Amino acid sequence: MSAPHTPAPQDAPEGDHPPLTASEKSYLPSIVKGIGITLQRFFKPNFTVQYPEVGPYDYAAQDRAIGEVNPRHRGEHILVKDEQGREKCVACLLCMAACPALCIHIEPEPAPWDDRERRPKVFEIDMLRCIYCGYCEEACPCDAIRLTPKLYTPTTSRTERVYDKERLLENNPEAQVPQRPRK
Ligand code: SF4
Ligand code: SF4
Repeated sequence: MSAPHTPAPQDAPEGDHPPLTASEKSYLPSIVKGIGITLQRFFKPNFTVQYPEVGPYDYAAQDRAIGEVNPRHRGEHILVKDEQGREKCVACLLCMAACPALCIHIEPEPAPWDDRERRPKVFEIDMLRCIYCGYCEEACPCDAIRLTPKLYTPTTSRTERVYDKERLLENNPEAQVPQRPRK
């Protein structure tokens, strides 16, 4: 005895939905609901920030609805300072060699201090070429360069995206602490 035929989904009659109520046919509930949401967003526009004047992470979490920046996010670099406020970089060029985007440019010079031989006279990173891979941070033997959670700073020219040593030293002061031990 053969099993009863079960209609395949493609055999189902088109428009097999419960009939619309009189209220649904009038569209009035949907229109009122839509106007309510529009008015709510008009008087409390909590999904828009005036970027770049205001950062997207400057609001309380419940207001911005985009979550918080992950502390492991790889954003703009800093050059780390030691306890005496000097750059920790000893101009060994390892980060420059490790960078796959060739966006680090360093020119060493003799250091005026007794605890190291060299320091960077020029230290530049072309942020437009950087792919934020973190290899420079990994390659550095003395924790002198870090990628921080800082979001990319908007600029109006390409030259502003090339950060020099002074800018990298002051780029994100909050990321200067705590000091990490030497590898
Ligand atoms: S994050 Fe990667 S691409 Fe950017 S400077 Fe460092 S090594 Fe180069
Ligand atoms: S940042 Fe680190 S790896 Fe790069 S030159 Fe300075 S000490 Fe060397």
